[in-house]
Parts: sequence; C-alpha cells; structure tokens
Amino acid sequence: MEQIYTIPVNEAFEEAPAEGECPFCRLYSKLQSDELDLILGASMMEPDVRIKTNESGFCPKHFEKLLDGGKRLPLALMLESHLEHIEEIIKPGIMPAKTAANAAKKLSAVADGCYICDRIEYNFSRMIETAALLWQSDEAFRKKAEGQDHFCLGHYARFLAAAKERLSKKELAAFYSTAGAAEAKYIAELREDVSRFCKKFDYRYADEPWEGAKDAPERAARFLKGEEE
Ligand SMILES: [Zn+2]
Ligand SMILES: [Zn+2]
Repeated sequence: MEQIYTIPVNEAFEEAPAEGECPFCRLYSKLQSDELDLILGASMMEPDVRIKTNESGFCPKHFEKLLDGGKRLPLALMLESHLEHIEEIIKPGIMPAKTAANAAKKLSAVADGCYICDRIEYNFSRMIETAALLWQSDEAFRKKAEGQDHFCLGHYARFLAAAKERLSKKELAAFYSTAGAAEAKYIAELREDVSRFCKKFDYRYADEPWEGAKDAPERAARFLKGEEE
C-alpha cells in the first residue's frame, strides 16, 4: 500500500458527505483540479510533458475546462506544438499503405486520447486499490466507509472489483454485507423517489407531497454517471 495514497483516501472518506456525494467522486474532482492547475502552470513548459500532450491531446470535457481556465496563453502555447505534431503526421506527399496505417494510428491516439484523463486514471486506480486495502487492514477506515451515504455506480463497481482482487473470501463476504447492503439500501430509496416523482404526474396523486422526490431524476443521473465536479 503506497503511503502517498492513504492520506488523501482517508481524507475523502472523512469529509462530512454532502447529501448524495460519493467519496471517490470527491477524490476524482481533487485529482482533476490538481492536474488542470499543473498543466496550465508548472508542467506546461516541461519537455516530457509537452511530448505527452502533443501525442495524446485532450478529451472534450478537459478541453472545455482548459478553455474555461482563464489561462489563454499557456493553453495556446501548448496547442501550437500540439498542432505542429499533428501537421507532421498528416503532411501531404506520397503515402505508402504502411505509412498511412501508421498515421491513422497516431491520429487516433490524438483523437481518442487525453493527457489529463490518463494522469488522473494513473492515480485514481491506485486510490481505489488503496481504499480496498485500507478496508482490509484498518478497522477505523472500515467504519468510515460504512458511514458513507453511498458510492456512485461506476465507482462502487471499481471499489468492488478492487475488493474482489485483494480481499480473502471471508473479508469479501463482510465487504459485501456492509458496503453492498448500504449501496442496495440507497438504490432502493432512490428508486422509490423516482417512482414518487412519476406518480406525481398522475392526477390522482397530484395533491400528495413530493417528500424530497422533486430532484429524483437529477439524483438518479448523478448516481448513475458520477458526480465528479
Ligand atoms: Zn463516484
Ligand atoms: Zn480527459
């Protein structure tokens, strides 16, 4: 277990959870804002970083965040060399089949890649693993994990996969009956809220109270797709 990950993981699980917030989403958001700060700041001129941003580019979500980041010049400098890299790949001339295949591969890497997503994923996957190991070895952490409101669907799937990978059969059963039970309870309540929301559109139930179901579709979407921001 890498020490550098135990502190942030513990902190994310300690923070008083806002209603409907997933601790892994909190970790993701923190990693994301750190990467955005770095790429438009300290890392921007580093040659090895530049090589990677040239080759991978950015996904639509992170391009948007970079454009909104207010640092237009550092971004433009990065784009300048990124475009040069792409120009190199697509420059016209006689193109034998092998070169075309190679160019297609490199261009796909740019089109589908994201330097920031890659960097986040590197740390995030280790944080999920760390959470599973902490769950296994640290009773206090287990209590913190059990105290969470819920995990979003995608992050619960990854937490469970990491637990399956690391825990003994007996430990996994305990994981499932605590974390799994809390998750099941959350989904049942969410589904009931969505049902109540639907019912309110039936004139027979129009006068019944919303009882917190007004934002049920939004909460369901956040649960299913993660909160991350
Ligand atoms: Zn999450
Ligand atoms: Zn991205």
